Amino acid sequence: MFADYGLHERLLKALSSLSFTEPTAVQAAAIPPALEGRDLRVTAKTGSGKTAAFVLPALHRLLTESRPQAAARVLILLPTRELAQQTLREVERFAQFTFLKAGLITGGEGFKEQAAALRKNPEIVIGTPGRLLEHLQAGSLLLGDVEMLVLDEADRMLDLGMSDDVLKLAAACAAAQRQTLLFSATTGGRVLDRVVDEILREPQLLLLNRRNELNENLRQQIITADDVRHKERLLQWLLAHEAFAQAIVFTNTRAQADRLVGVLRASKVKSYVLHGEKDQEERKQAVDRLRQGHVNVLVATDVAARGLDIEGVDLVINFDMPRSGDEYVHRIGRAGRVGQAGLAISLICHNDWNLMSSIERYLKQAFERRQVKELLGSY
Ligand code: ADP
Ligand code: MG
Repeated sequence: MFADYGLHERLLKALSSLSFTEPTAVQAAAIPPALEGRDLRVTAKTGSGKTAAFVLPALHRLLTESRPQAAARVLILLPTRELAQQTLREVERFAQFTFLKAGLITGGEGFKEQAAALRKNPEIVIGTPGRLLEHLQAGSLLLGDVEMLVLDEADRMLDLGMSDDVLKLAAACAAAQRQTLLFSATTGGRVLDRVVDEILREPQLLLLNRRNELNENLRQQIITADDVRHKERLLQWLLAHEAFAQAIVFTNTRAQADRLVGVLRASKVKSYVLHGEKDQEERKQAVDRLRQGHVNVLVATDVAARGLDIEGVDLVINFDMPRSGDEYVHRIGRAGRVGQAGLAISLICHNDWNLMSSIERYLKQAFERRQVKELLGSY
């Protein structure tokens, strides 16, 4: 129970109004040491509830250790604007019964407006490294009072080449008693290890990513296809015959994503494409449209989709097989979040067999083989 952690009553009130009754595994593991002020390096899969695991301790600290405040006390870094917006929404939900303010600082928005917002001294600043660094260098962002620094989706940030910016921002959060929390969906590579060494102090390691800990309510199937045209036919057939509320179709390349969305629209499937080449506004629109139910199929590449919490996705189709087990877990983690039922279908061409068996070995689990008889030999 959340009440057992001694969280501030206004946070407990917010939790109950949001019907968060039980903490998830990562929350149960991370909240107590975070409240004690420890540095944490946490690895837990997408959809496991990492946001609340750092937002609740951050808000608790702000509520219980009040001080005359002239600059940000909590800084939360995320790799993309969408994730930063999403995190702001979560912070606002948990802080709804408090007077705490949060500011959002990401690329693609007016710099001057952001500087003006920062002058109002929000206790919490949430943003992407590049733009935050610009504000730091322009003097509109002061980080000397930051008591808690959070790196969320740290593996992604570093994959996207943000490590220099992250290190510079961390160096500016120079308060002696700074607490640093680092969250990622994978254990990351050497770059992540280096960043951890540089900015975390004797971190407690919390590894919740057991590979076979995937949602049990998620069925995982494979369908073999002869070639890309056959895959397109299978995709159209599946979208027409599977019962689903919202689907995400993953491709390995932007070009393929663009082509597919053309194919789907031609067959009157309401779909939208999300990939890294789209500008921020288009990407936000894609997610909003899915969230609001204007479209029910999102075609996406990994870069664009990682970490987005799109509620209600119950079907994930790998139009292209992901290139690694980690990526596979990321993708299908979008479906059936926190215990809902879901279906993940991967379309496999003959040259994907090795990849598929290596992913099965990684998951220690075999995929269910499925055939779509209607499309056998019809083509
Ligand atoms: P992650 O960052 O690990 O991918 P999120 O923090 O985005 O996961 O959480 C995934 C979803 O689960 C969100 O919709 C969130 O509101 C919901 N959630 C998180 N914790 C709880 C909880 N304790 N009870 C109910 N829902 C939760
Ligand atoms: Mg997250």
